[in-house]
Amino acid sequence: MIVVMKVGTPEEEITRVSEELAGWGLTPEKIVGKHKVVIGLVGETATLNPEHIQEISPWIESVLRVEKPFKRASLEFRHGQPSEVVVPTPNGDVVFGMGHPVVVVAGPCSVENEEMIIETAKKVKQAGAKLLRGGAYKPRTSPYSFQGHGESALELLAAAKEATGLGVVTEVMDAADLDKIAEVADILQIGARNMQNFSLLKKVGRQPKPVLLKRGMSATITEWLMAAEYILAAGNPNVILCERGIRAFDSEYVRNVLDLSVIPVLRSITHLPIMIDPSHGTGKAEFVPSMAMAAVAAGTDSLMIEVHPNPSKALSDGPQSLTPQAFSELMQQLAVIGKTLNRWETPQPAYL
Ligand code: PEP
Ligand code: MN
Repeated sequence: MIVVMKVGTPEEEITRVSEELAGWGLTPEKIVGKHKVVIGLVGETATLNPEHIQEISPWIESVLRVEKPFKRASLEFRHGQPSEVVVPTPNGDVVFGMGHPVVVVAGPCSVENEEMIIETAKKVKQAGAKLLRGGAYKPRTSPYSFQGHGESALELLAAAKEATGLGVVTEVMDAADLDKIAEVADILQIGARNMQNFSLLKKVGRQPKPVLLKRGMSATITEWLMAAEYILAAGNPNVILCERGIRAFDSEYVRNVLDLSVIPVLRSITHLPIMIDPSHGTGKAEFVPSMAMAAVAAGTDSLMIEVHPNPSKALSDGPQSLTPQAFSELMQQLAVIGKTLNRWETPQPAYL
């Protein structure tokens, strides 16, 4: 349920209403919008009569029920106002959300060695990426495949951050590794295979680093938003939703089916920022540029793109990784669409 306060409601009145509602056993959350303040209510609201809440204060404009099962993640909960996720990095704040330039996260699938991660970080930065991605702990289908260098790779990510000032995005697979990963990561990635690892979701929800929640490969949009709800309900409001392709019947030409229709769908039901990952979404480097451009055209807030200095030698996901040169060219193409939509940072970074 949400309580919409009238324009110009005094601050003390908002506090008083919130305190009164807390006394009813509800958890009020103040959401400051562009024009109005909304108090989101979570708890046992099903039996509450909105008219009784309305009587608490003449400053209450309306009391509305949130119909969706994902309460905090719903657009209704913020009365239609999209949220922003602000990620502090050594190069400055990176902001994810509608109305901001598209944020591009780029880097290798896995962190392989110091030279490659630093070289990749420098090149993607030069091309305009704002954050570096790279897996230290890798969720691999086969136990015999490269599993990531683990803790030592975290040190290499820290070195790449130091060298470039780029913030770091890396995956947490196991709650036991969370603290040490959070020391280096600026955004914690929850991979597709862990989207419904509820104990992990609660754990990342109880710490302050922003979370990138990838869609499970067979998750419905509701299941995905319910997973986000776990993180929000545990107290972390900074969640970015990443579409990375879903399983369908035909994997002959593409690894997954990149569901770009989620962009307008999510926009209509959630306030959370959206990211599209065309690398895992297609599984083939040659298809990545078209889907990245389509995602920007469709209004994504961010992109995640795998880039490797030598894709044919990559220890994981080489076939879907762009070379730094191809990434730089893609960034130039994306800029044309991004600028047209007024969603691209200017001035442009130097061409590689
Ligand atoms: C990754 O980002 O390298 C990764 C393993 O992603 P996903 O969880 O989407 O497969
Ligand atoms: Mn990968």
